[in-house]
Amino acid sequence: MMIRALQRRSFHVRRAPEPPSTQISQLLASYAAHPPHPLTLNSLVAFGQPLAPKSVLRSVSFVLSEIPRRLARRARALETLPFIVGTNPYVSKALNAYRQSFQFLASYPPVTTLEENTTFTAELSHLVESHRNDIPTMAKGFQECAKYMSPTQISKFLDGAIRNRISVRLIAEQHIALSQALEKQEDEGFATHYGIVDMACSPAAMVKMCGAFVSELCEATLGAAPTIVIDGHQDTTFAYVPVHLEYILTEILKNAFRATVERHFQLYGTTTMHAVAPVTVTISPPPSPASPFLSIRVRDQGGGVSPSNMARIFSYAFTTAGNAESDGGGPYAAQHVGGSAAVGGSASAGDGNLFGEITGKGVQIGLGTIAGLGYGLPMSRLYARYFGGSLDLFSLDGWGSDVYVKLRSVDQAGNAQI
Ligand code: ADP
Ligand code: MG
Repeated sequence: MMIRALQRRSFHVRRAPEPPSTQISQLLASYAAHPPHPLTLNSLVAFGQPLAPKSVLRSVSFVLSEIPRRLARRARALETLPFIVGTNPYVSKALNAYRQSFQFLASYPPVTTLEENTTFTAELSHLVESHRNDIPTMAKGFQECAKYMSPTQISKFLDGAIRNRISVRLIAEQHIALSQALEKQEDEGFATHYGIVDMACSPAAMVKMCGAFVSELCEATLGAAPTIVIDGHQDTTFAYVPVHLEYILTEILKNAFRATVERHFQLYGTTTMHAVAPVTVTISPPPSPASPFLSIRVRDQGGGVSPSNMARIFSYAFTTAGNAESDGGGPYAAQHVGGSAAVGGSASAGDGNLFGEITGKGVQIGLGTIAGLGYGLPMSRLYARYFGGSLDLFSLDGWGSDVYVKLRSVDQAGNAQI
């Protein structure tokens, strides 16, 4: 279905004369000149209420006006980087990807029927999917241009790009979910839950799900895995975007698991002789109007973070993975990844985790790497902050780490701009 739609589309594009690139640049500049709609989560979710053909068509016209605008702004941001940075092949590849998607959406004919919407939705999923490598691609480009951009500039730029990506995906995924819910409703009757927000998202269930995946990955990569103990308020539920929670928990658990197994190996020289200390996840009571946050603490006995690395663990591409054997300094001997291999080499494998796509089934986590890209902490913190939450890591050097994730219930954050 999606392939057919795309073939049809590319056939169409091949026959239509391509607008000259200056024309695209002008169009892009005019879109970028309009600030994005002040969009809140509430208003995004409201497009789907009541679930009816009319709301789906209203939603698609919103998608067709808002997403190109957001893509145009990112393209402009790339265009206005120092000229020398723009000539980097990775940076220009990312820019082209933004330009192409912008052009595709900005020139898309109005969608006026549900049939047209079905075709469009398939194309939209494909478009979102095609951007999965943008962030690692840009990061690699910036690493190569480290002479011309400061680490702060790079961080700021990537923060902006990732925020933009989160917002574009929220808008796209909400529309896709809505369209699917309507089709399902027509087949099976009234749908009770639809869209990107789960009003009763369960942290404990999510910890179990992500924990099962991370255990498997950890066993496969490091030969052993700790168990997870969940305590606190296990029956807590709250309103949140489940794929965001899934992303954060997977990354934090990967770190805790890896630290635990490597520390155990460091202490005992084996991963089997002694019981590996469990990772303990504690869940707070549900948010309330007085305290609109859900908190999760992930505690491990993985030895903590050495004080000399502490300042850098939230930097993009900072990792201590990958040099355990070679330097003899133990698994946590610091390595600031400046070489091109770090992001480029494993980006495609790890990208399934970092930027895995959601197409109605939840994030598809490819069996990626347990560590090594150095994106887990900065990206997770960005996700947590997206709706007004926070993420902090406290280390008891020589013993273990506590990660506090504080998430603002989107019930309470409905007015948060996205
Ligand atoms: P990666 O896991 O790919 O290395 P992250 O951003 O997830 O990237 O983490 C960066 C670094 O922070 C890790 O390489 C590790 O040195 C340190 N770190 C993160 N979490 C923990 C933890 N729970 N215990 C010890 N060190 C940690
Ligand atoms: Mg990690």
